[in-house]
Amino acid sequence: MSKVCAVFGGSRGIGKAVAKLLVQKDYKVAILSRNLEAASATAEELGAHLALNCNITKEQEVQNTFQEIVRSIGHVTYLVNAAGINRDGLLMRTKTEDILSQLSVNLIGPIHTCKVALRSMVQQQGGAIVNIGSVVGHKGNAGQSIYSASKEGLVGFSKSLAKEVARKNIRVNVVAPGFIHTDMTSSLDKDLLSRNIPLSRFGEAEEVSHAVAFLLESPYVTGHVLVVDGGLQLQI
Ligand code: NDP
Repeated sequence: MSKVCAVFGGSRGIGKAVAKLLVQKDYKVAILSRNLEAASATAEELGAHLALNCNITKEQEVQNTFQEIVRSIGHVTYLVNAAGINRDGLLMRTKTEDILSQLSVNLIGPIHTCKVALRSMVQQQGGAIVNIGSVVGHKGNAGQSIYSASKEGLVGFSKSLAKEVARKNIRVNVVAPGFIHTDMTSSLDKDLLSRNIPLSRFGEAEEVSHAVAFLLESPYVTGHVLVVDGGLQLQI
């Protein structure tokens, strides 16, 4: 099986750390994000093979992107969905556009990329997908009802898809991070929130990347949710 991996949301944060590790492991990596300049700069910095702009919410753009990856570096046999957004706030005050944007980027987007990637994977007689969920999905968090719904929706989707494609030698897993140092969490009060984390600190994107690589490379693991949260989910 070829080692071509598409990393959506690979321009920064967790996706970038995943792309970095996979390049080190000799994967051919395509870095995808809406901002081509950022994706290209990251690809150059990491020595990744390809950078393209793609809005994960647009099905046609996703299809075109996969065609371009196949043309440039080969059939996609590995897929990491790390694109994501949050629009935190109490539900009563959340605008409809913010509800829809979170559901479209965090849930519909990965559904598009998985659907298109499966064609390549079936043709290559195997593949592996890791979707990035969140510990907030199964724990819940006030002010994150929509984000949480999108992430737990992604778990249901991933488990069902895992059953659907297992016979094709394609595996689907989820990594559910807790609080990780990235742009997404830059405005949070780290000292305050860390008090509730058994390991007493936010995680680093690199620490999540190892969990992603583990699931990509574990041939007998599918339909699993691997939590990487410093013990946060253990708290009542
Ligand atoms: P960042 O904000 O650092 O990075 C988000 C990435 O997603 C960027 O590459 C961004 O690029 C891309 N992206 C956003 N919207 C789209 C879109 N519509 N189409 C394509 N790409 C898009 O986030 P993190 O690295 O922190 O998060 C990565 C994933 O991990 C997300 O799914 C997030 O929900 C999840 N997560 C993060 C946690 C954390 O504490 N950081 C905790 C739990 C889960 P661009 O803007 O150029 O499109």
